[in-house]
Amino acid sequence: MKTKIIGIFIFMLLILVTIPNINSNMIKNKNLNNIQNLKFVPGEFIVKLTKDTTISNPSLMMLNEKYKVSSIEKAFKNSENTILNNIYILKIPEDSDILAVVNDYSSKTFIEYAEPNYIFFLTNIPNDEKFSLQWALYNTGETGGTPDADIDAPEAWDIETGDPDIVIAIIDTGIDYTHPDLSSNIWKNEDEISNNSIDDDNNGFIDDVIGWDFIGESPLFPEPDNDPLDMFGHGTHCAGLASAVTNNGIGTAGVCWNCKIMSIKIAGGFFGLINLISAVNGISYAIYNGADVISMSWGGDVESELLHNAIDNAYSNGIVLVSAAGNDNSYRKLYPAAYDNVIGVAATNKNDKKAWFSNYGDWVDVAAPGEQILSTLPTYHVTLNDLFYSMNYDYLDGTSMACPIVAGLAALLLSYDPSLDHDEVRSIIYNSTDWIETNKYIGNGRINVYKALLIASGVTVPPNKPSTPAGQINGKPGVEYNYTTIDIDPDGDDLYYLFSWDDKTYSGWVGPFASGATGNATHVWNKKGNYQIKVKARNSYGIESEWSDPLSVTMPRNKIVTNTFFLQLLEQFPLLSKLFSIISKTF
Ligand code: CA
Ligand code: CA
Ligand code: CA
Repeated sequence: MKTKIIGIFIFMLLILVTIPNINSNMIKNKNLNNIQNLKFVPGEFIVKLTKDTTISNPSLMMLNEKYKVSSIEKAFKNSENTILNNIYILKIPEDSDILAVVNDYSSKTFIEYAEPNYIFFLTNIPNDEKFSLQWALYNTGETGGTPDADIDAPEAWDIETGDPDIVIAIIDTGIDYTHPDLSSNIWKNEDEISNNSIDDDNNGFIDDVIGWDFIGESPLFPEPDNDPLDMFGHGTHCAGLASAVTNNGIGTAGVCWNCKIMSIKIAGGFFGLINLISAVNGISYAIYNGADVISMSWGGDVESELLHNAIDNAYSNGIVLVSAAGNDNSYRKLYPAAYDNVIGVAATNKNDKKAWFSNYGDWVDVAAPGEQILSTLPTYHVTLNDLFYSMNYDYLDGTSMACPIVAGLAALLLSYDPSLDHDEVRSIIYNSTDWIETNKYIGNGRINVYKALLIASGVTVPPNKPSTPAGQINGKPGVEYNYTTIDIDPDGDDLYYLFSWDDKTYSGWVGPFASGATGNATHVWNKKGNYQIKVKARNSYGIESEWSDPLSVTMPRNKIVTNTFFLQLLEQFPLLSKLFSIISKTF
């Protein structure tokens, strides 16, 4: 079943990541790029059957035969009576055209949707003791930043330091649960007895005392087990930001000192890749086992209906969902961050500006520190640039780091007032931010933990700067299809354009262009007539404006008149010219 070449390659990767002192150049080859560029897992896809359809439906069975389906498995445990019921994983030959197969299944009335098993990515940027180095929590300017460009954590900790009853699920590469600054905050499944090979709490997972590993070491060939240990470092870093053991005299501080961290491993392999099924499994595990907050420092740019279902399922269970906005320095939406029920988090730097890599746009909710962020790491771990470190702490960059800081704040709010529901938590986080001047919209400002707790305690805090900037985008096409635009939004934001001709979309969104830019879009008409050119502009705040101008298109009457030689001839012989004019008017 498995593609042998990829299998051998993954095996090589495993050797590479487990034996120290191997030259990192060895891993820089073409095959790695292929794995990194995978959009979905080969040879399998997901279908959700309509409510009254079963897998023995004759039409479905015919379709399965057509595509040589070799196995059908129920995708998710504990999914009865949830939105994730009646979903199956189908295996087909690995050289199948998955997108074509998925399209065919999707078109059938007995199928609600079909999707590839998409691949998602972690949202950190790998790079090259200790509280004084944690500028994000308390910035005195010592590390070269702007004093108070921080989340006011010490002020907040005078009010609340976190309750062990509040559980933050870190759905990631696992966690180094043996880490001295994490171990006593690791969530334990109290109803499960370890190593007796019995699913004591009947949650569908045997001996899951400290969470679950849904993936093993490979996103393509998952080997789930009960040991969500982190080899990669990413999940351990995120866990420490949300809830490292704090005030214990060592290492770093977490936003929520005493909250519990549930380790759910869904990312594996050298690149920490994630597949859709393991991601949804991870979210479902967090729901079923009582997480209050879910932190997701990963994503993809596909709008998966299944992932959306899983998110909505968690939301309807009252869980606060937090996810990273991504690191493309673009407007591009990343999911799950861009789903409505998720707090999408952009990243700031130590000068309270947008981190250079952070995504932005109206779909982002808030920002939090995400550049040069110090946190916990396993003694041995792997990053893209460097294979091994033997430190228990280091810096990482990414919206991945901003995300668990917000998750920690959500948990701290729930610790302070467990009666808050998930919408109230989200609203407090959104309304307690400090507005920061950036040239891109990164949500309603940078979070402020202290102000959030003040609001939770009923204190009125000064209003934040309004999130919607004044002004709008104006524009007017000039002669034919040249255009000039003016963005009077105060930040001088980048603009994107969409051109339409005659109600038919001509271009996709193009840009970014600086405010006031002049440009042109070309379009060839092959029929004379009166047309409307429509231009839609959008800035990174999501504010759009539209305008249109009439355009009259005339066609050359006669191809001869465009012939330069003939025109020159006419010029030299005025009589001929007059004759030609008379003749051409008679046509
Ligand atoms: Ca169990
Ligand atoms: Ca057991
Ligand atoms: Ca500590």
